Amino acid sequence: VYNPANGDAIASVACMGERETKDAISSAYNSFSHWRKLTAAERSTCLCKWYNLLTKHKEELGQLITLEHKEELGQLIPSMANKQHVNQNTEYSSYSCFSTQMHICDSQVLQVVTGASDIEFYAEEAKRVYGDILPSPLPDRRMFVLKQPVGVVGAITPWNFPLAMITRKVAPALACGCTVVIKPSELTPLSALAVAELALQSGIPPGVLNVVMEDASKIGNALLESPQVRKITFTGSTAVGKKLMAGAAETVKKVTLELGGNAPFIIFNDADLEAELSASLAAKFYNTGQTCISANRLLVQEGIYDKFINAFSNAVKSLNVGNGFSEGVTQGPLINEAAVQKVESLVQHAISQGAKVAVGGKRHNLGFTFYEPTLITDVKNEMLMARQEIFGPVMPVIRFKTEEEAIQIANDTESGLASYLFTNNIQRSWRVCEALEYGVVGVNEGLFVSQVAPFGGFKQSGLGRESSKYGLDKYLEIKCVCMGNMG
Ligand code: ADP
Repeated sequence: VYNPANGDAIASVACMGERETKDAISSAYNSFSHWRKLTAAERSTCLCKWYNLLTKHKEELGQLITLEHKEELGQLIPSMANKQHVNQNTEYSSYSCFSTQMHICDSQVLQVVTGASDIEFYAEEAKRVYGDILPSPLPDRRMFVLKQPVGVVGAITPWNFPLAMITRKVAPALACGCTVVIKPSELTPLSALAVAELALQSGIPPGVLNVVMEDASKIGNALLESPQVRKITFTGSTAVGKKLMAGAAETVKKVTLELGGNAPFIIFNDADLEAELSASLAAKFYNTGQTCISANRLLVQEGIYDKFINAFSNAVKSLNVGNGFSEGVTQGPLINEAAVQKVESLVQHAISQGAKVAVGGKRHNLGFTFYEPTLITDVKNEMLMARQEIFGPVMPVIRFKTEEEAIQIANDTESGLASYLFTNNIQRSWRVCEALEYGVVGVNEGLFVSQVAPFGGFKQSGLGRESSKYGLDKYLEIKCVCMGNMG
């Protein structure tokens, strides 16, 4: 496992493939019959203990993620400071907006708190998996609906939120009575191992939660081929998501997919400049642009264009790039060299098509995986940069005239995860919100995350929803029972 800021090796983990994955599936399958038979309250108690352990160890876990994820210290992070203030354990967990600057370790501690809160939320929801009594069509029949766990779940997660992406999947699965085989990103396996260890310590029986690491395609194939695995849940690229969906067809597994985004951030003439400025900055530069809900296209109406771009340029110039442990650093490295090369090629392509660099536009002089915070103007929606997920600190700007044009540009993509619009016109906010083909819409709000909010995308951004009460559905089978001779 390497530190992305300098390439130093920080740990070694086991390299696993098909054989270990089959073992893990057997272990999850054998544990299923016991785990599902516990009462919801018993499973809830285990989850509560797990939540408490994550909360207790949030500082160490935050440091671990910082180490394997990046060395950057200060980044734009979710803050409740300007919303409401509640106690330290829950302040970021129930609702996160992204607006202020914070030490990177604190922001990774925040990820732990958010992840722990997923567990707390589903520990509560475990007790609310209700069935239904149906009105019988015949006098001597009785009919009802049972909800039951689907079985063994294969959970494949990415590197950008190495802990919270795991808890978001595992918590509802365990709450329902499913058992899980997790395959974390090969870039960030340490947080997965740590949360699994804490799960054991919390009394979740061995075999209920299993971790396999390293050889993605061998592990993926073993999960897909096994008839014992009844569901695949995945967060990652659209390309891999499509492969998994196709592979799952062979054994008709349930599939939940959280795939790439191409988020439009639309600013209308009548928006509040200050609010949109801090929200757009965070929506782009949080996690150095490496989230699936990062603003990928900034759409600015012509009446506010010059004023906004001027203010935004100054804000981008003020972002400090650096590697951890230095005061005031707000932007870190990208995850690896391939990520930097992708960003470089998108910027070069846009320039060759007539776009202009307003700020940045090249690798940072720190070298290695650092790229300058960048603002590109005169972008057209046909350019590659506006069609692909950038996953880096580059904001392309597209100018528009009318509301209809903004909606047309925003929806002109195969993705449909997050979108944002800024306006003080309430009728417009409603109209545009309804017209956007996206699973998540922020109205006068930048990035936001909450356990109560269903998260997922339209179109090729995915299938199903995670978090919230809707996040349980795909871990449950519905069984309809008819009892005869009941007259
Ligand atoms: P990202 O670009 O965010 O890394 P990927 O889709 O490449 O997105 O990776 C997300 C997760 O999917 C990681 O855990 C990765 O190892 C895993 N993965 C990549 N390819 C495959 C595959 N063929 N089968 C199963 N998992 C895969």
